Amino acid sequence: MHDPSCLFCRIVAGEIPADVVHETGRTIAFRDIAPQSPVHVLVIPREHVVSLGAAEDDQASLFGELMLAARDVARKTGLSDSGFRTVLNSGPDGGQEVMHVHAHVLGGRSLTWPPG
Ligand code: 5GP
Ligand code: ZN
Repeated sequence: MHDPSCLFCRIVAGEIPADVVHETGRTIAFRDIAPQSPVHVLVIPREHVVSLGAAEDDQASLFGELMLAARDVARKTGLSDSGFRTVLNSGPDGGQEVMHVHAHVLGGRSLTWPPG
């Protein structure tokens, strides 16, 4: 479902340009506009799903495809050996700003843990 008021739905629709690095049948991955690491890619479902917290049981295969797309983004961007971090922020305390679920794939430098 395309939500015309949603930034990431508009990227899926091609209405807002994005630097796409990977696509699957139900997902698309593009570089974050404000990268927090040398590689910072967002992987999103093409359909409008608000957050991991709002996910439905029947979306298990969609979320599986999202995770494997994140793996393939890591492979394509050269992070397989050095490692990477995959983050899904959910809701206000999770720091989610765009209410269309997205997995951050971060790498290319050593990342600290725990995050702030
Ligand atoms: P959140 O805080 O919701 O987990 O992450 C949202 C991410 O989307 C942020 O890292 C932010 O930099 C990124 N972002 C916001 N607007 C745009 C945009 O128009 N294009 C791209 N490529 N990334 C965006
Ligand atoms: Zn959306």
